[in-house]
Amino acid sequence: MSAQVIDGRACARALKQSLEADVAGLRGEGLGIGLATVVVGDEYSSGAYERRLRRLADELGVPYFPQALPPDAAQDELLARIGELNVDPSVSGILVLRPLPAHIDEAAVFRAIDPRKDIEAVHPENAGLLALGVPRFVPSTAASCFHLLDTWLDSVGEDRADFYHRSLIVVVGRSNNVGKPAISLGYERQATVQSVDEWADRTTGIGRHTRWADVLIVAAGKAGLIKAEHVSENAVVIDVGINAATGADGTVHMVGDVDYDSVAPRVRAITPVPGGVGPVTDVWLLRNTVTAARLLAGLSIDEARPALPRTLLEAS
Ligand code: NAD
Repeated sequence: MSAQVIDGRACARALKQSLEADVAGLRGEGLGIGLATVVVGDEYSSGAYERRLRRLADELGVPYFPQALPPDAAQDELLARIGELNVDPSVSGILVLRPLPAHIDEAAVFRAIDPRKDIEAVHPENAGLLALGVPRFVPSTAASCFHLLDTWLDSVGEDRADFYHRSLIVVVGRSNNVGKPAISLGYERQATVQSVDEWADRTTGIGRHTRWADVLIVAAGKAGLIKAEHVSENAVVIDVGINAATGADGTVHMVGDVDYDSVAPRVRAITPVPGGVGPVTDVWLLRNTVTAARLLAGLSIDEARPALPRTLLEAS
């Protein structure tokens, strides 16, 4: 049996279409929708992400305000720039791209973002709301994982609530920006959730946990970490990892954390890399930018988040 491939590009296209109409309508009403990205230094991955967001914002008609600071920019300069964006009425969403240079205190930078414009929920107030199950913004990568799962469940005619209630979701990787938000979203769906980090890998090995997973979300940043022996035959695998790999001919290409060739023939469904989690993540960030514009204008944000379960929609 070969797994069903969960098509992130198709899912992103559908999400983008619904967002296009939303953006046009809200801008017609004079709402200040705008995305500002802040890049410090010249890290390759930040640059690539920034270019993707710039293109997407352009396609959606969302004004885009890229901010680039040199690698040796002082922390005060960065904080001052964020302060300017906080009070700029044409900016509804602010994204500070990671990694930041070592001399900058990431936590201080995240605390400086206006929580109402903090579209990746990195400010402690937004991270806390998410952990409490009442998020203002759902971080885009974790949101993408569950949007892909929800969409796939609909496509195979499975009841979402029933599926999540009887599922064990194992999340590999526990970062603040991907692993932990994914754990929170699993709790919100009333699934049984297990978190596995590199300490388990170094001691007992991750297989004793991952092999039981009905849903396996992998966000470790380690190419080929998950192999056939780490998964059960009925698993749905969501591969978040983005790693550069050099092929036999010397060309560099992108691979996930899952060894796709050995795992795909064994499991029920799987997201590819590229073309899985990434495209939906990008659109979700723009979607959060629109949600922020609604919030800043005092509008309801419920209709901007239809993909979330009931308990999350009840958040104010
Ligand atoms: P991170 O480095 O901040 O965190 C990685 C986590 O994985 C840590 O908790 C670490 O302890 C854990 N880990 C490392 N090795 C492990 C092992 N052998 N077994 C179990 N756990 C292990 O990275 P991140 O920001 O969470 O990103 C993870 C991956 O996802 C990266 O490849 C990143 O490029 C990718 N990413 C993709 C998207 C997307 O949209 N597709 C978005 C964000 C990040």
